[in-house]
Amino acid sequence: MIKRIGLLTSGGDSPGMNACIRAVVRTALYHQIEVVGFLRGYDGLIDNQFCILNHKEVSGIINKGGTILKTARSERFRTTEGLKQAVTTIQQHALDGMIVIGGDGSFRGAIELAKHSDIAVLGCAGTIDNDLVGTDFTIGYDTAINTAVDAIDKIRDTAESHDRVFIIEMMGRDAGLIALRSAIAGGAEALLIPELNNDLGDLIEKIKGWRHNKGSRIIVVSEGDEVGGAYKLAETIKPYCAGLDVKVSILGHIQRGGAPTCMERVNASIVGYHAVLELMSGKRGCMVGIINRQVALTPFENAVKHIERIDPVLEKLIKVLSH
Ligand code: ATP
Repeated sequence: MIKRIGLLTSGGDSPGMNACIRAVVRTALYHQIEVVGFLRGYDGLIDNQFCILNHKEVSGIINKGGTILKTARSERFRTTEGLKQAVTTIQQHALDGMIVIGGDGSFRGAIELAKHSDIAVLGCAGTIDNDLVGTDFTIGYDTAINTAVDAIDKIRDTAESHDRVFIIEMMGRDAGLIALRSAIAGGAEALLIPELNNDLGDLIEKIKGWRHNKGSRIIVVSEGDEVGGAYKLAETIKPYCAGLDVKVSILGHIQRGGAPTCMERVNASIVGYHAVLELMSGKRGCMVGIINRQVALTPFENAVKHIERIDPVLEKLIKVLSH
């Protein structure tokens, strides 16, 4: 019998986390389960900073970016002492289950939590990066790519008006999936992401071949690409740009913010709802995701394995369409 569960958001914030919190709380209350929300990720668990979440606390939040529970990257939780303190908090609250909303790092933390206590832990993938195995879309990704496409569209206006080359740097330390989809949707002329073995030489050849009267020249680069960031890339390609101005735009944290898209809110609600139902049915140690529109459970150990290969259809698409 699940009577009381804990809930926290951890790692980088992502739009849709609030929709997921709301779904967890409302589903739990519907089944007479109490929800204890811990503040600032694993730090809140260590310091026993919490609030009891009822209908009132989660009303009016589905349309809001960020997370009402706040989030943090907790270095203390990686220590034996921090982990011990977190387990003590769980025991003090007599929690029967725990739901962690976060990315791969947060799930590595969830694995440790489960290893050192007897609590059932489930996860909802909350990260803009979409880099987890076991779900088609993580919470935050759809909003982030829409924000990025909007930015590309706006930058293209000025790029065309001034005949400029623009390098747009997207978030993604280890994964280039935000850059990939937004480059396709924004009609970028070139893409550099860690998953593709982009030869800088290929890019330079491409630049040399750009038609003189070409309308716009947008290069999308992921922050984690081996070229070492947009500014370094700008210096490298400048000599080949036939005197055209090369400008850099780093989108940065605007990719994390804003109202979640409709798709985001619906997906976040589905996984939050199912996380509670799966806890009630005795599941533990898994991430709740959506694959081909079906709810899917993936053990944390598999979910955190980084996606090394991108969809070959998308890889081909960007190559052909940006030609
Ligand atoms: P994002 O994708 O937005 O970066 P994330 O969940 O991957 O989100 P991280 O900063 O990697 O973000 O991890 C969040 C927190 O999870 C860390 O600050 C730490 O508290 C905990 N964590 C990460 N890895 C481990 C680990 N190996 N052991 C224990 N805790 C961990």
